[in-house]
Amino acid sequence: MTTEASKLTLFNSLTRAAEPFEPIHPGEARVYTCGPTVYNYPHIGNMRAYVFADVLGRVLSFKGYTLTHVINITDVGHLTDDADAGEDKMEKMAAEKAQSIWDIARHYTEAYWADIAALNIRQPAKWSIATDYVPQMIAFAEKIAPAHCYELESGLYFDVASVADYGRLARAVTEEGEGRIEAVEGKRNAADFAIWRKTPPGEKRQMEWDSPWGRGAPGWHLECSVMSGDLLGFPFDIHTGGIDHREIHHPNEIAQNQAFCCTNGLDQPANSGARVWMHNNFLVLRPKAGENAKMSKSSGEFLRVQLLIDKGYHPLAYRLMCLQAHYRSELEFSWEGLGAALTRLKRMLMAAERLADVKADLAADLAAHPKLGPLLAKFDAAVCDDLNTPVALTALEEALAVKKVDQGAKRALVAAMDAVLGLDLLEKRRPDLRLRPKSASISESEIEEALERRRQARAAKDFAASDALRDELVARGVEVMDGDPLGWEWKPGE
Ligand code: AMP
Ligand code: ZN
Repeated sequence: MTTEASKLTLFNSLTRAAEPFEPIHPGEARVYTCGPTVYNYPHIGNMRAYVFADVLGRVLSFKGYTLTHVINITDVGHLTDDADAGEDKMEKMAAEKAQSIWDIARHYTEAYWADIAALNIRQPAKWSIATDYVPQMIAFAEKIAPAHCYELESGLYFDVASVADYGRLARAVTEEGEGRIEAVEGKRNAADFAIWRKTPPGEKRQMEWDSPWGRGAPGWHLECSVMSGDLLGFPFDIHTGGIDHREIHHPNEIAQNQAFCCTNGLDQPANSGARVWMHNNFLVLRPKAGENAKMSKSSGEFLRVQLLIDKGYHPLAYRLMCLQAHYRSELEFSWEGLGAALTRLKRMLMAAERLADVKADLAADLAAHPKLGPLLAKFDAAVCDDLNTPVALTALEEALAVKKVDQGAKRALVAAMDAVLGLDLLEKRRPDLRLRPKSASISESEIEEALERRRQARAAKDFAASDALRDELVARGVEVMDGDPLGWEWKPGE
């Protein structure tokens, strides 16, 4: 090796610092990702959280760790407010749609999994479904209740004053967080939260279970503590989620984990149940005057992966758009930005096509290679620098463009880089990205026919007719590209 491999450094929200990754079990990485609440379709902002977690997992694999990744599905317990107020999101949607909660959960879980596949997000080792873990949740709550909880008419509450450093992760919890939390009569501290919500007398919920505190349902925060601890063992390595979870959900998980593990202050990061807590920033919309930039699932109107597909944008263009920004930066969504990402992806695929018939030389010592070694080192340094995917992408493009090198070694390098970025460059061909917009009013055979007429017009030097045919195609959403082997493309619509 002529190039020294970089050390993986990740930004830990708990310490607000970039730290070298030290696995708890040598050679292994255990990661838990807060999954979706399946009361509605995920929006593309939600999917940014899973693209981020996927890249993290792929980087850990690239660095040689054996990865165990768990993503949960929240099918009970998440209230309309992240703190403790409002109704259960699942119950509310089921009532609105007059459907069984179980059918709602199945439908939206499958829709979420379809988006996971469309964005080339790897399957985790386990999808943990919250309702499969209710007995374990009750056992967890029974263990922590005597020293950390108290019972009110509405449920079993966690006393946040019973653990040291409550809210350290959020930093601003006392100034901001508490103000948002609706008062429940009898709560000892404003930030106390329900870990078991009793079904009010005379009511029946679709999802409810017997417990030592009466019939009811678990709280959302309890679910993640239980599933992560059960499946990965406390302490595990990395816990991920969107940045909103840094304020309430994860501080509450941490408090429960401390109570369960009988550890107190957070001066030892492992005391929080997970050593590293990582959060992706939000995807935001450019706000129109007077509008909020935040993308919200509960507002009803939002962008879904399927909408991008319907408009003719391949979902991998959205994946690339996510990778073009650092996960800790806000990312502004725009159709122009998505179009530019699609063009960039097409260019990468065209370059990768030259390697289509080349067999990867897996024995090549890439690190020692005079031209490829520095590119591998650049890529490695970028992903090790808290997942700097924007720079990693440029290293991949440089690798695709490199000339006069052994093609087998070049293919091996591109494959290694793409295994981390997940753009499917060696499997897809450019026509795979040519998605027909749903609104397209012309069939492919009509396009071919018009192009043939155009060829004849050009052969007859009738340029006016040729231009008219081109304009007609453009007006119908088809881009004509003279000199390009594909000859035409669908133009994604807005
Ligand atoms: P939910 O289904 O609402 O629990 O959210 C699923 C995941 O998406 C969580 O990790 C959220 O933090 C994350 N999330 C929600 N909105 C956005 C957004 N606009 N951009 C990025 N991540 C988001
Ligand atoms: Zn969670």
